[in-house]
Amino acid sequence: MNKHDDDLSTRLIHHPYKPPAGFEAVAPGVHKASTVMFPDVEALRTYDWKDKSGYTYGLHGTPTTFTLEERIATLEGGEHCMLAPSGLSVISLVDMALLRQGDEVLLPDNAYGPGKVFAEVELAAWGITHRFYNAMDPDDLARRIGPATRLVWLEAAGSITLEYPDIPALVERVRQANAQRSGDRPVVTALDNTWGAGIAFNAFDQGVDVSVQALTKYPSGGADVLMGSVVTRDLALHRKILLTRMRLGLGVGANDAELVLRGLPSVALRYHAQDATTRALATWAQQQPGVARVLHPALPSSPGHDTWKRDATAAACLFSVVFDPAIAQARIDAFCNGLRLFRLGWSWAGPTSLCAPYHLASIRTQGWQDAGGLVRFAVGLEAVDDLRADLAQAWTALHCKPDPFPSPQT
Ligand SMILES: *Cc1c(COP(=O)(O)O)cnc(C)c1O
Repeated sequence: MNKHDDDLSTRLIHHPYKPPAGFEAVAPGVHKASTVMFPDVEALRTYDWKDKSGYTYGLHGTPTTFTLEERIATLEGGEHCMLAPSGLSVISLVDMALLRQGDEVLLPDNAYGPGKVFAEVELAAWGITHRFYNAMDPDDLARRIGPATRLVWLEAAGSITLEYPDIPALVERVRQANAQRSGDRPVVTALDNTWGAGIAFNAFDQGVDVSVQALTKYPSGGADVLMGSVVTRDLALHRKILLTRMRLGLGVGANDAELVLRGLPSVALRYHAQDATTRALATWAQQQPGVARVLHPALPSSPGHDTWKRDATAAACLFSVVFDPAIAQARIDAFCNGLRLFRLGWSWAGPTSLCAPYHLASIRTQGWQDAGGLVRFAVGLEAVDDLRADLAQAWTALHCKPDPFPSPQT
């Protein structure tokens, strides 16, 4: 852990909250409500939930959700935070708050898949267009920013293929476009910060306007709760998204908020423990037969490694193995089925290690059309030697001699 993380853990653990008189427990209370009762009509008319100075209705916030919002803002180095029921819901919330008919949104080609599908299906149906850009080429982004562009999504590292983009350079291209534009609706940058979790780097210091996170992953850490957050430093931007959240009727339950509050004191410890195990396994995997390449930003051969080294101090619990194209998918499936500790399942950053096979050609518009099968590993909290032994015993299912049947590429 570096100094920043020591400070972060301390600040999260000693984060103030308002306990009932005479009962200052370590954990903040769990307050549940739809109805909140007002002392008089004057209070009913004037209490304001938007700045957290008053409680008005359960959907608008409770002491429990307000406390969690303040702590997530602290975690990410932002000023304002709002919660919503999942990571995907905060992506769609930001889209809906900032885009209108006739607008265009730009997304990295390696963005979280369901966020791409939201643009392709729902936003398209509302007359909002989208384009995908190459996150590893800031000039490609600059070329695609047009007069209708209002929102640019960023993601570091990219989903599945884990390319690490140059966020400051991408943000700078958006700034340049805004400087040339007159009018009152500048292009906003929004980062999916689930991978960095507020620990690997500070998104706001790198210039992004909005940071969303699937709290489902690291902040929860338990693989047992779904939640998302939207953090900003800009109050006007926060208010705009907050009012859309209100009109959509999105809120989170106190028991779910409690689970995330319980995860936060250990989030930095877990992040670094899983980081260390993941790097050890990714490095080991590079030397195994049948591997075309291993994707993990800390590996020098991984795309964006130098940028990661410059801009981040840690890496998440994910690595992907791209197999030799000669290895048939059925063998890769057999390898996944043969794993005992790595379980098959979506999501990551929980206690259990997970894996999932992906077909790159069908989830990318460019760059990976001839690649072999890919398996994305999400490393949990098990012992590194046990996980390595598990990978090694399943590797035999790959029979890493050339496939007797010619693959389409050969
Ligand atoms: C998991 C994930 C999401 C979505 O989170 P859910 O809570 O599962 O909806 C969004 N972005 C990234 C990068 C994720 O890994």
